[in-house]
Amino acid sequence: MPELPEAETIGRALDQALAGKKITKVEVFTPAMRTALTPLLSAGLEGNTFLKVRRRGRYLLADITGNRCLLMHFGMSGVVRVETGDIPRRKHEHVFIHLSGGNIFRFECTRRFSLLEVHECHPEGFPAVLAHLGVEPLSGDFTGEYLFEKCRKRNVPVKNLLMDNQIVTGIGNIYVAETLFASGIDPRRPGCGLRADECRSIVENARKILQSSIECGGTTISDFRHVDGSEGKFVLNLQIYGKAGMPCPVCGTVIDCVRLGGRSSCFCPECQK
Ligand SMILES: [Zn+2]
Repeated sequence: MPELPEAETIGRALDQALAGKKITKVEVFTPAMRTALTPLLSAGLEGNTFLKVRRRGRYLLADITGNRCLLMHFGMSGVVRVETGDIPRRKHEHVFIHLSGGNIFRFECTRRFSLLEVHECHPEGFPAVLAHLGVEPLSGDFTGEYLFEKCRKRNVPVKNLLMDNQIVTGIGNIYVAETLFASGIDPRRPGCGLRADECRSIVENARKILQSSIECGGTTISDFRHVDGSEGKFVLNLQIYGKAGMPCPVCGTVIDCVRLGGRSSCFCPECQK
């Protein structure tokens, strides 16, 4: 599943491909993915122009003239491409948005957990459906003090709190594992047991790791590809995620794995306390 760095990478590429392009025709080949796709046909998008592409958590928003946006979430297997019309439609490509200049924005999703919707949205704001999302991990609002305040009354594992989109949006399983390893914190520790300096360390490491993954173009996972078909390189930098049973890169102890909030959580029993 694309996480925040992948969404950021896809968003930057999409922005270059879409900004300034006029929508000439919309085609929907499947009635629904996570939600109905047919409203895209009746929205009267033709004749409007894409302004810019932005990210909020793991959502992308393509702003369109007329105070609307195309809201995207890639679910487990969503892929967007901007290509010429010469390439035949692939089996799981559900939507084509034809653009001035001849290219087509194509949305593919094999497992149909993705989302593609039109929403009212001012270019400086966000659509109402995203109002529940917590702070952006790369924004100035995500501070050690903020995290400490959110954690101190919660007797649930810190891993679950960092995965809670209403606290901080979009860090995701891979980067939470890497962040807690870099911070030396056991993912099972209850939020209320964290000290202020530990919360500061978590915030600093999360930013550093997400930023460096964005610079690498994200992490390669089986069903994720960039908008131009290339793959992310951050997978080479993973220290702990997906490495159960392997030696810790710092101390050599065998990496352990537990399930928290329904997701696997790898950690080093020696380095993370
Ligand atoms: Zn270790």
